[in-house]
Amino acid sequence: MPEAPKNLLDETDNHHHHNHGLVSEKNKKVLEFIEDVTSRADEVQERVLAEILSRSAKVEYLKRHGLDGRIDRETFKKVMPVVVYEELKSDIDRIANGDTSPILCSQPISEFLTRGEEIDAYNCRRAGEEIVALQSIDASDEPVCSRPYDPYTNYTSPNETILCPDSYQSMYSQLLCGLYQNSEVLRVGAVFASGFIRAIRFLEKHWPFLCNDIQNGTINPQIITNPSVREAVLKIIKPNPELAGFVETECRKGSWKGIITRLWPNTKYVDVIVTGTMSQYIPTLDFYSNGLPLVCTMYASSECYFGLNLNPLCKPNEVSYTLIPTMAYFEFLPVNRKNGLSNSISTGAKSLNEMQDDQQLVDLVDVKLGQEYELVVTTYAGLYRYRVGDILKVAGFRNKAPQFNFVCRKNVALSIDSDKTDEDELQNAVKNAANHLSPFDATLIEYTSYADTSNIPGHYVLFWEITLSGATPIPPSVFEDCCLTIEESLNSVYRQGRVSDKSIGPLEIKVVESGAFDKLMDYALNQGASINQYKTPRCVKYAPIIELLNSRVVSNYFSPKCPKWVPGHKQWSCVDN
Ligand code: AMP
Repeated sequence: MPEAPKNLLDETDNHHHHNHGLVSEKNKKVLEFIEDVTSRADEVQERVLAEILSRSAKVEYLKRHGLDGRIDRETFKKVMPVVVYEELKSDIDRIANGDTSPILCSQPISEFLTRGEEIDAYNCRRAGEEIVALQSIDASDEPVCSRPYDPYTNYTSPNETILCPDSYQSMYSQLLCGLYQNSEVLRVGAVFASGFIRAIRFLEKHWPFLCNDIQNGTINPQIITNPSVREAVLKIIKPNPELAGFVETECRKGSWKGIITRLWPNTKYVDVIVTGTMSQYIPTLDFYSNGLPLVCTMYASSECYFGLNLNPLCKPNEVSYTLIPTMAYFEFLPVNRKNGLSNSISTGAKSLNEMQDDQQLVDLVDVKLGQEYELVVTTYAGLYRYRVGDILKVAGFRNKAPQFNFVCRKNVALSIDSDKTDEDELQNAVKNAANHLSPFDATLIEYTSYADTSNIPGHYVLFWEITLSGATPIPPSVFEDCCLTIEESLNSVYRQGRVSDKSIGPLEIKVVESGAFDKLMDYALNQGASINQYKTPRCVKYAPIIELLNSRVVSNYFSPKCPKWVPGHKQWSCVDN
């Protein structure tokens, strides 16, 4: 994710680590800044747009569309198209291939960021990738490289471990440093919940090696070969047999419930994003952390910072992000889904892909409470009216600036026929189905899906990874009930395809062996994905990935009968469309 805007840092930066007075003075300034820019949101947005456009006046992309050096909102909206990534791809490829002329941005592009889930996105800046960011009270008296001091970005991981390109070495060395300084840690986290849970799983596998290193003040030469990581870690680690014994005792205990508070007893909260599809990790995080507050601080992307959670201690399902008007110029495409989330039978089920693109975009201060929108941004880094692909819902306002719940990514996850199931709907259906597992003390820990069209009719396939704590094996009929519950929870277009048109076959659940989703993540990381950006895809289309999961299937089940569907509602969906 990108760095915080420079002006915010300049105002708030100071190097007096221990002076809490100054820190609170700095916080006060930041809050005043937020008050000010949210109170004048529209004026600030207008200025931001003018600033971006005047800086980029000579940029080829703007000239091509005939903006002609104008910087006003009206002309901008009239002449500039709203675009998706594919429409920028040829320009981005030119930049990536070394064309240094001002194509999208007047400043030279120094580095590219890739979007975690899909495609190459583009940005002028880059931050380090904190994989397991463990904050300490007072980790060091030396200034941490060029990172300005801030108690909220103070980590037990030296920069070399964070920046190490080998994710395995990076994870190991960050955990080692975090464990070694365990009593100083106040906060644990990673960008997304999935990355953090991966760290805990890594610890489950590697604690004997880590304890050995703590015992002897070493860093395992077989695991860590990167010289700068070795050097940085060895500056910190000294032999500590007592701590090694403590960590070993905790890790050896049968249950890992509360392992975070046991190993890092001063931890006050877990700093991870658990909104959107990450919400499925909340129970696992609660288990490992004994219910510590889960704090989602921000909503951002490789392209741009978007918003902040101004009420960080609120419950995960109440999180809303205030879009900060200085971050970018924001516009909003209204999304009209007919009951897409509901599992009632009377849905018209217009999916996100069918939403009308010719609708008027609205400005930041004009969004309506309760309405859903797709976010469109114009950034300092050279994106103009770019559709981010996220769906947000207005939850309230901070002064004039709206606060949004993150709803989902726009992409349709599954489609066989005219049915279109988005991630959010799938997530909801899977959640309903997974309730059938709880009497067996079993938990669905990961899932993904694909539309299997190798036979006619095609059908939805879900890969499920399950942990079973209870002693009773789960009977096949329970999985069949899960299949049916998912079908019942999907929209009426899907059910019509199943029942009336027979264009969709029975839904299938394939249970995969434990660790299969870790293998999927490894695969993505090997393909160049960043661990901090990695999110389990809720739908997979790429054949090698489907093969990878298929090769780990331990059992499979089909929906035993058709879901309910009432013909009368066909007319409703016609009217809605
Ligand atoms: P990336 O560009 O790979 O860093 O991913 C950015 C995307 O991650 C955003 O467009 C969102 O889809 C998702 N994302 C980022 N922050 C949040 C958040 N706070 N809650 C839910 N999803 C988020």
